Amino acid sequence: MLEKIKPDLAPTRTQLVAVSKTKPTSAIQDLYDRGQRIFGENRVQEMVEKWEALPRDIEWHLIGHLQRNKVKYIAPFVSLIHSIDSLRLLKEVDKQAQRQERVIDVLLQFHISEETTKFGLELDEARALLDSEDYRAMAHIRVVGVMGMATFTDRKEQVRAEFRNLRQIFEELQQSYFDSTPHFFEISMGMSGDYLLAVEEGSTLVRIGSLLFGAR
Ligand SMILES: *Cc1c(COP(=O)(O)O)cnc(C)c1O
Repeated sequence: MLEKIKPDLAPTRTQLVAVSKTKPTSAIQDLYDRGQRIFGENRVQEMVEKWEALPRDIEWHLIGHLQRNKVKYIAPFVSLIHSIDSLRLLKEVDKQAQRQERVIDVLLQFHISEETTKFGLELDEARALLDSEDYRAMAHIRVVGVMGMATFTDRKEQVRAEFRNLRQIFEELQQSYFDSTPHFFEISMGMSGDYLLAVEEGSTLVRIGSLLFGAR
């Protein structure tokens, strides 16, 4: 399916995160051999094991909910954390990044769906985070954008409205907090079932699993 997705993304600035959770390293190696370099995982231990086993120039993105006590395991190598949903978690990432003498790029995850179970910030919580003294003191993280998951539904207009909402959140934060910071430019949205809509609404990172690797 890489051959179908690639041309969809080619005329855009959207990058593909190949979501390889639950899939064996052989399946990742296969996509790697066909040129894919960005892979997304949602479990820390699984990501660490795959990082150890696979080529070093893979960019590993953590896309799932992250517990603070597990940040230390991915801090040496993770290239982007999509799922920052609290100041406490961000502080831990900053601390572990400092230990590794790195700066770790992160996205703020927003709750944009109708579903109540999904993690994520509301806009006012994100503002409070970005206004805090704690945040301003952090020298080892870089907030490079936002992430969100749309409601799992066939109602396309619902999904489109949620993606549009995330894009508006991105633009508001950009104006208020990241006006002179060109590295704030990522909007992570879109999965196997809705990535074309997400691209239309301005996604810069689509996270695609089952369409690439088959059902989990
Ligand atoms: C699993 C997962 C995906 C990919 O889902 P598919 O429907 O298989 O493309 C994307 N984002 C997150 C956060 C996920 O956990």
